[in-house]
Amino acid sequence: MDTLNRIKELERLIIQAKKSYYSFTDDTDEQQLTDAEFDLLEEELRQLDPNNVVLRQVGYEDTLNSITNKIKVTHTIPMLSMDKVKKKEDLLSWFNNKIDSGLITDYQLVVEPKVDGVSGDLLYSNTKFQYAATRGNGRIGLKIDTNLIKNTIKSTIPIKGSEIHIRGEFYIPKSYNLKKERDDYEPLRNLCAGALKRKEPIEINKYIEFIPYNIIGTDITFDKEIEKLELLRKTKYPDIQYFITKDITHVWEYFEEYEKSLRNKWSFESDGLVVVFNSINTQKIIVQEFGDTDHHHKYAIAIKPKSVGAWSTIRDVEFNVSRNGRIVPVAIMYPVQIGSVMVSRATLNNMSFVKENNIQLYDKVFCNRTNDVIPDIVKVIHTTKSKEVTIEKCPSCGTKLVEKGVDYICPNHLNCPAQIVNKFLHWFTSNDIKHIGPSSIDKLIHGGNFSSLWQLYAMNQNDLMCVIEKYCNISKDTDTMKEFIRLFEKSKDQTEQDIIGKYGIPTIGIKMLKKMNIYTLNDLIKYKDLSYMSSDVAVEKNICIWLNQDPRNFDDLFSLIKYIDPKKKVDKNIKKKLFCITGALDNLSRNDAIKEIENKYPNYEYSNTVTKDVSILYIGNDATNTSKYKTAVKYNIPIIEYKSI
Ligand SMILES: [Zn+2]
Repeated sequence: MDTLNRIKELERLIIQAKKSYYSFTDDTDEQQLTDAEFDLLEEELRQLDPNNVVLRQVGYEDTLNSITNKIKVTHTIPMLSMDKVKKKEDLLSWFNNKIDSGLITDYQLVVEPKVDGVSGDLLYSNTKFQYAATRGNGRIGLKIDTNLIKNTIKSTIPIKGSEIHIRGEFYIPKSYNLKKERDDYEPLRNLCAGALKRKEPIEINKYIEFIPYNIIGTDITFDKEIEKLELLRKTKYPDIQYFITKDITHVWEYFEEYEKSLRNKWSFESDGLVVVFNSINTQKIIVQEFGDTDHHHKYAIAIKPKSVGAWSTIRDVEFNVSRNGRIVPVAIMYPVQIGSVMVSRATLNNMSFVKENNIQLYDKVFCNRTNDVIPDIVKVIHTTKSKEVTIEKCPSCGTKLVEKGVDYICPNHLNCPAQIVNKFLHWFTSNDIKHIGPSSIDKLIHGGNFSSLWQLYAMNQNDLMCVIEKYCNISKDTDTMKEFIRLFEKSKDQTEQDIIGKYGIPTIGIKMLKKMNIYTLNDLIKYKDLSYMSSDVAVEKNICIWLNQDPRNFDDLFSLIKYIDPKKKVDKNIKKKLFCITGALDNLSRNDAIKEIENKYPNYEYSNTVTKDVSILYIGNDATNTSKYKTAVKYNIPIIEYKSI
């Protein structure tokens, strides 16, 4: 569910951003993203759902090309972004990696604030201002109408040269927050991005500042990075404060100081620090020896602060329906940046959570990101507009909801479209069928009018490809389709127990079935006996509830097994060998490693802890200090390096 929510959120943010590019509306309510944020969103969506239709519509450059009322500017020297670190050890390894090459003699570093604004390039010719442009995607940006920044721009600078590019950040100073009683918590950076795209200036345009950090000219050369910063002082734009050191540990101390107090003292919002080698010669050596990636200069790095959460306003509450009918309220907020991620949705868990915390529509809320995907709301302030959140009917099928424990449930388990989509998704995910993403599954189900998984398995391969081609817009001869079909066919090659475990009965997975000695539907059906309703074992009770809440639950699973017709049988006589894993594995998650081992040795089963019953301990890097390792040594359990399998 989390991934699907994030995909929906990304789609919404990207579509909105594209719209605002096309229209250049003067609607102040419209949320504006910076180009760099736009890039990040597309990249994240590409990773979660590579075939998402939003990505196929138009890319960034197409979007730029379709804009006719703004002039495009090519950056002959691209405006690259920087690699980022968050931890001390990553900073040290970035530095040591350069020093260990033995090629660098001058390793003085310059540390400066990373201003959180909108990157831009100003062109001056023979001291006179020509135009300003946005960073765009680093290679192509858009010209900014000069009347939008007429209070910002210095019309002349005392630096000669036929083509002088001054690069820096447009930003709105923090003092703007004090001047205005602001109703929402839209970040200043986004207000600035919006103000730079308008047709006509409004009041906020008066507040835009520009702080330069780089200068490139046809006739000027530098020996040191700080010479650039010193020369830029002459322009009378605000200056960047910097700090010089040869000791990388001082850089980290400075960063700690930054997190504690420095960032609050600066007049602009900042997003960490930038560290760059001072010697231009050193920079050149690094480019020669380490290369430049498409996006990053390797002689500079950004240190990003830990995420601290952010304020926003709840604009709407959306209700999602899980595969088992649970209603999950989600707060839709003004997009805010938390850490390095732009979010506009926060989970409200369930209706009890909403009531207990008295969360209302139009509340001001403080969000924290505790897991990787969706933030939590941790503080709530009511506003005059605040309105109670209520729900009575399922948003997907309109059935009256029933209260069960902390949850509201849609009881229409077999025909509720949202529950069907999420059941399919759960099955596809459990079977590693990743090549058709959530948005395509959604279209397949709605377009093809599917209500049960077995319907897919009842079709022949060609018919299945036809419906996918028709509704998901994926051609038969593409690799995506071939890979989908391969994995779909593979999903038929499993035991009845696997199918039951992956089907999605609440709290019942394959592990649990093994523990309960449930191998087939015959083993499962005995829990239909109502005496299990009062069982002390929660899983027995869960199966009993599931079987009795609607007889069609069982019929549906029965049909799935009938059409898959599993040939593979569990050999009940083979005693399972338990294995455990400890230490870090290169490029492999723990779960992938477990799958790899279990696929290779079908009678192996993963154990979370090392006990006397464990037969093998696999170890990765730095495993010898772990308690699992020590226990294995104590019990004389064979220890094998994971690499060797
Ligand atoms: Zn429903």
